[in-house]
Amino acid sequence: MFFTHFSQEDLRPSYFEMFAQERLLPTLKPALRFVLQVFAQRHPRLVPVAMKSDELFTLLHFLLELNSLRKNQASCAEAFYGLRRGHTFSAREASNIVEQGPLSRTEIFSSLVCLVFVPYTKQKLDSLYEEASGHALADMFTGSQGVNTQQESLIKTLFVKLYPTFHALYELWFFLQQLLFLFEKTKYYSPWLRLQGILVRRLTAEELRAVPNQNVANSSSKLVSFVDKLIRMLKIAAIGGVFAFKFLEWLVSAENKMPKNTGFIPSPPVPLRPSSKGIQLPTDRTLCPLCSQPRRNPAVCVSSGYVFCYQCLFTFIERESQCPVTKMPSTIHDIQRVFHEQNI
Ligand SMILES: [Zn+2]
Repeated sequence: MFFTHFSQEDLRPSYFEMFAQERLLPTLKPALRFVLQVFAQRHPRLVPVAMKSDELFTLLHFLLELNSLRKNQASCAEAFYGLRRGHTFSAREASNIVEQGPLSRTEIFSSLVCLVFVPYTKQKLDSLYEEASGHALADMFTGSQGVNTQQESLIKTLFVKLYPTFHALYELWFFLQQLLFLFEKTKYYSPWLRLQGILVRRLTAEELRAVPNQNVANSSSKLVSFVDKLIRMLKIAAIGGVFAFKFLEWLVSAENKMPKNTGFIPSPPVPLRPSSKGIQLPTDRTLCPLCSQPRRNPAVCVSSGYVFCYQCLFTFIERESQCPVTKMPSTIHDIQRVFHEQNI
């Protein structure tokens, strides 16, 4: 019923089909980041690649969506759920020549902007906000204003103050549009589709039958056929990766939830070895490896486990995006303050 059984006239997808397809590809991003981090731990040469995992994902996402929009008139996830982009839900109108034709170049371009570049920009703005607000927190701890000029710190303060409102309004805009779609008060699932005037509808029975023939017809040239196969394999690997990652996530959480009655406490993990390119550890391990002074506001770099002064570590990670000792890719979210009897 979900995919195949629908009346000829009712090609409107359900809210749940749209919701599921929207969540499909973003799940791949943490999976890709995790895989790159594992490889970077074993092969330090891959550290710069692991640090650019967002950009790598965006490039991969762009190629998959461009191919899918041109071939299937739908995004990858929409094509997976048997949907396509058009201008009407009605099968009778869908047989109209304009509807059956491919998406125009402008529509493909605007779809790519909304599917790939808008989420990327939003994510970068989110990280910028977290970084700027974290910086404000560090200034609060140290009482310093950093090395920013007055103009820079004014822009930063304004951004930190205004961004949460912008973020809330943006989310509200999506929430209201989706609520209207759920109650069938609008034809558009997302505000971006509304702005583009593009509807997402289910494939008709004829279109579903025509998909295999289309692939045969398109494989006339050997090179085209090879590229086509490669992209199809990449698409299957991407979607397979999502499911594998979700399965592993479930497995790990299920294992963690299992009652542990054995009384066995595993030995603590072996510390990561300092990198030859990292800073040297002081002989006195109570000192901060960055400033060689007794640690002030101790903070641990979660990705490696080494402890520094909060300010030293924050400034280093913000500049270098890696652990000072092991060179493991790290963000300011990997900084955790350490509380013990001396500094509570
Ligand atoms: Zn220090």
